[in-house]
Amino acid sequence: MKDKGEEEGRMLNTEHRKTKTAICCENLCRIFGEVPAVCGAHLDVNPGTFFALLGPSGCGKTTVLRMIAGLEIPDGGEIKVGQRVVASHNRNVSPEKRKVGMVFQEYALFPHMTVAENVQYGLGRCDDKKMRSQEVLHLVGLEGVETRMPHELSGGQQQRVALARALAPKPDVLLLDEPFSNLDAALRNRVRTDVRHILRQTKVTTLFVTHDQEEALSLADEMAVMMNGKIIQTDTPQNLYRYPASHQVATFLGDANFLPGRGRGQEVECELGSFATQNSCSHEVEVMFRPEDLELIVDAQGPGEVVDIEYFGHDQLLHVQLDSGTRLKSRFVGSNGGLIPGSRVQVRVHEKVITYPSPYGCPINQKTEVRGQGAEIP
Ligand code: ATP
Repeated sequence: MKDKGEEEGRMLNTEHRKTKTAICCENLCRIFGEVPAVCGAHLDVNPGTFFALLGPSGCGKTTVLRMIAGLEIPDGGEIKVGQRVVASHNRNVSPEKRKVGMVFQEYALFPHMTVAENVQYGLGRCDDKKMRSQEVLHLVGLEGVETRMPHELSGGQQQRVALARALAPKPDVLLLDEPFSNLDAALRNRVRTDVRHILRQTKVTTLFVTHDQEEALSLADEMAVMMNGKIIQTDTPQNLYRYPASHQVATFLGDANFLPGRGRGQEVECELGSFATQNSCSHEVEVMFRPEDLELIVDAQGPGEVVDIEYFGHDQLLHVQLDSGTRLKSRFVGSNGGLIPGSRVQVRVHEKVITYPSPYGCPINQKTEVRGQGAEIP
């Protein structure tokens, strides 16, 4: 039987989590005809975080965002913004009353309005529109362009106007739909760093959607991976990369090597030897190694041969073929110690490994929250 104190503590924790959440989606569903775009998605976004919703094209990210904004009505589930239920089976708060700002992929600026008019568009009658628009244009670093038309601005500047327009009514949360995808590669890096800096200053909770892993990992405080209409895993970028919940998530979030193995509790045996595991496992499993966790050491008697090298400047990826025919990737930062195609090598593993039930599955016992699959952060 549970101790009363423990029970109360648990309730307090639950309450604490609930009061902390800036956006909460429970069991969210949206079906377009035959297409189940979102199927039972859960999402908690903590106040003040820069949160990325990451997933492959078509997995339902934009639909989630549009439902939070009130532009799409859910077929099931509940959405809260702060403490307020804005969508449920018997409730649908209109978009303009949700206190949610949105920046669309294509910015959606009104082409016939000046910058100032665009920014002031969402402000009510009694607001001091001019002062507020000057304030937000200053915040996004765009003073002096108030009278210009959108077509007289660069892509990066238009993106900032869209951001200023969304921030002007002081929303509780800001939603960004692929906000950087219209910018060319050179501009994208700069604009996304600037946008994050601006939003950190405002402390507004931001949920942004992207299919770009690097963008999500480098910008977000927390992130969720979405696939096939469901949120698969939620955590910090670091934990998601280190402890992916499945083979699918591991490959979606970077390079990963897999070898068949046999689990024995906290240890697994595979072609490269015996290794300590992050998660407890048994029977037939898949062992996952990140390329940067594999070290290659020149050894004429070693079980592998370097077959290819991809050089990226800041690092390089060495492709190794083991005598069994298995191919592995190993990432080196800086020099690789003189390895060239044809070098025979030993393969060493630096980190505890992760295993998945074979062929595919979900490792439980991770230091990560896997919504809907029963695993909790210990
Ligand atoms: P992307 O990264 O390509 O923008 P996404 O993850 O944002 O994709 P959604 O735009 O949410 O995905 O779409 C999810 C699924 O729902 C897709 O199969 C899409 O074709 C479908 N869908 C979205 N909107 C509609 C609609 N209005 N009518 C019919 N199907 C739709």
